[in-house]
Amino acid sequence: MFCDPCDDADELHGHHHYLDICFRCRKLLSGNRDIFMYRGDMPFCSEECRQEQIEIDEAREQRLKQTGLAEQQRQRQLKQSPQRIPIWAW
Ligand SMILES: [Zn+2]
Repeated sequence: MFCDPCDDADELHGHHHYLDICFRCRKLLSGNRDIFMYRGDMPFCSEECRQEQIEIDEAREQRLKQTGLAEQQRQRQLKQSPQRIPIWAW
């Protein structure tokens, strides 16, 4: 009994259709033996592509966290003291 790498590739291909292209640069991964995974379901053709995506995600999460926090504070202020807005601020 010997292992044919082609069989493995075919099986992977059949079960995971979304693994066909690099999530970042859309390069076909079918002939790529090194597929870099990120967050379980994002395939990348190279470590560079994956790293780019990680950085983009981190930047977006950072921004979301910041805007989310600002929004929370704004809402709390609105709820707590709407009457404390100085008249000249209008
Ligand atoms: Zn790529």
